[in-house]
Amino acid sequence: MSAPGKSASYTVDLLKRNDVWIGDTGATCHSTPYDYGMTNCIASKPEDSITMGNGVAVTTSKLGEVNGCLCDKLGRKLRPIKLKEVSHTPGAAYNLLSISKMINDGSDLKSERMNDDSCIMLSRGTDKMIFDLMIKTPKGAIYCMILKRTPVIEVGAATMNLLKKLTPPENPKVVLTIDAAHAMFGHYDEPTTRQCAYARGYGISRGSLKPCGYCDMAKARQREVSKISAGVPATKPNERVGLDITSVKVPNNIMATVTEPHWRIIVDEKTGME
Ligand SMILES: [Zn+2]
Repeated sequence: MSAPGKSASYTVDLLKRNDVWIGDTGATCHSTPYDYGMTNCIASKPEDSITMGNGVAVTTSKLGEVNGCLCDKLGRKLRPIKLKEVSHTPGAAYNLLSISKMINDGSDLKSERMNDDSCIMLSRGTDKMIFDLMIKTPKGAIYCMILKRTPVIEVGAATMNLLKKLTPPENPKVVLTIDAAHAMFGHYDEPTTRQCAYARGYGISRGSLKPCGYCDMAKARQREVSKISAGVPATKPNERVGLDITSVKVPNNIMATVTEPHWRIIVDEKTGME
């Protein structure tokens, strides 16, 4: 977002963005021309097509959910949000959030003034949806909300939502040991490795991840870098210093917590002074 001040006026071009949703009292359902970040999609039926305000019918290609973060007009994050039953309408021009659907589902609509600007707000319990981005058009003002979509990771032809935990496939054609899957999918931790395998339709045989030589080697290298000797040892104090890391531990008999337990220290090679 171009970070406009509160007195800036917003142009109609903004309406083309995938994170700007027009609060529309005329629309009967939520719709978006962009399927970026849509999850749990199901095929649409012919009766899911939508007639837009200008009378043009737009085809719905699928129905799904849009997950993301509700933001104010300056792009500051407010809360996570999930829109259900969103029609993907590739032929439409804008994202429309159906205010009538929200009211049918139990939300209250009111107008408010925030920082000298008017906005509209839908609230249901403590959940609020704020339409604080006001765009002036020749026909009047439009109120919009900002929903930054959560991206989904592409896995082959399907999409993987990282927030959703996958369950093992029912009758997998391929079953891997967790150790083989760990090596195959990039040496991730055990839960991530399992999710990678399940997402591809692979099963994982019984047993847990055994220590991995490559991962151990990588860890050892991180710790031991400063102990690798480089040529002739230093003979005088201050001749050569090395960087090391150290952890501050509280003795068991002292009631205290260390807020910053890991320190980078400078060690003099000859004297060992830190
Ligand atoms: Zn490994």
